Amino acid sequence: MIFESAQIAGIIYAVVSLIIIATLYRKKKFNRKISYGFTVASIVIGFLAFTPMLPWQMQANLLGTEPQIPAFAKSPVAALTLIGFVLLAFIFSRVFCGYACPIGSVQELLYFLPIKKLKINNRIVPLLIRIVVFPTFIVLATVYSIGILAEIGLKDFFFLTITSWLSLIFIAFIIMSALIYRPFCRIGCPYGTLHSFAATISLFKLTKNKSCIDCKNPKCESACPTNEALETGNRMECYLCYRCIEACPTQGIDYD
Ligand code: SF4
Ligand code: SF4
Repeated sequence: MIFESAQIAGIIYAVVSLIIIATLYRKKKFNRKISYGFTVASIVIGFLAFTPMLPWQMQANLLGTEPQIPAFAKSPVAALTLIGFVLLAFIFSRVFCGYACPIGSVQELLYFLPIKKLKINNRIVPLLIRIVVFPTFIVLATVYSIGILAEIGLKDFFFLTITSWLSLIFIAFIIMSALIYRPFCRIGCPYGTLHSFAATISLFKLTKNKSCIDCKNPKCESACPTNEALETGNRMECYLCYRCIEACPTQGIDYD
């Protein structure tokens, strides 16, 4: 019962933070300190209460079972929550992924470690992997009752346990995120796949404004870890990380 209340509190936290962040972005009042604050808060909540862990909830709903949070996982509230946050991505793009999800936040924080980064300039390959991983996840859960996120150790990581060799896979994703921007989010997360497609047509997303001077070797494009700041970027993999805005010398990017 306590665990269930924590899940609901986590959902409330996600909704409130999403609204605050989107509002600050709209008013151009978002900044790096605020981004650190939400990132750290989401990580702490993730480790303390395993919430708001919506990719895990998606798996639990598909499996129809969740040993530790049975009532919530099977409840219509959980299903509506999952649908609701995808609908929010159609409006606000990936604010949930950017700041409220503990899984994304851990990777985001590690990417700030001052070590040399490996930028993947190809946008097609991660997309193709995503397109293979998503139906595999669905089929394994619905046809074979296998929760792949559990198998690879997502929950083990947040519960600070190692239950099998397979559970090291998620740890490997996390370690890699110091080097490569959000590897799990960009290829492995089924819920993120839904958000990424929603973000391509979302009402609000980052766009260049009249102040953009089309600088040579665009600073926003160099700063973007997912190549979404390119003119051709559809913001599918934009996590509103703030790097392009920070890099722009003319405040040439809006959340519009
Ligand atoms: S892609 Fe998945 S893991 Fe990453 S932030 Fe979004 S919901 Fe979380
Ligand atoms: S740098 Fe800009 S375009 Fe690239 S992911 Fe971050 S916020 Fe999105």
